[in-house]
Amino acid sequence: SRFQATNLGELLAGVYTLLESQANLNNVDIKLQFSEPELLIYCDESQIKQVFINLIKNAIEATEGGGEIRIVVEQVGNHIMTSIADYGCGIPQELLDQVGRPFFTTKEQGTGLGLMISNKIISSHGGTISISSKMGEGTTFQVTLPGGYRNG
Ligand code: ADP
Ligand code: MG
Repeated sequence: SRFQATNLGELLAGVYTLLESQANLNNVDIKLQFSEPELLIYCDESQIKQVFINLIKNAIEATEGGGEIRIVVEQVGNHIMTSIADYGCGIPQELLDQVGRPFFTTKEQGTGLGLMISNKIISSHGGTISISSKMGEGTTFQVTLPGGYRNG
């Protein structure tokens, strides 16, 4: 398989580099924060990259007029939790259960496939994605994956 031990911080730094110019164009400031220097997950790196590209792109697109996105990576038991918080438009309560269904999009140029694919990838890694959102306040996606930090 393509699975290998991967430093999640390095992976996210790579995703950040890919999205930096889109963030700058939209006046979005991405803040990355880690609880430990070396948080490791066992994964298909290109698939997990795709998930974070999707989630961070969505966060940038939701941040109309500019603002901040906070990405926090921390160990929770034998899992690594990455939360991606934006302070953008938010998702209406009545649409929350439709988000992630194939072809559900509220964007003119959207495919509505990003979250569906992300959910599939994360569940195939034994993880979960959860959403909390408030209209006008913002949205937080939490990605939890089995993993830990390197000892000694
Ligand atoms: P797409 O980005 O092509 O629309 P996605 O599957 O990535 O498809 O997202 C589906 C829909 O979920 C988006 O169109 C949007 O309505 C909503 N959404 C996803 N992420 C966010 C977010 N961070 N803030 C607000 N709405 C979001
Ligand atoms: Mg998307």
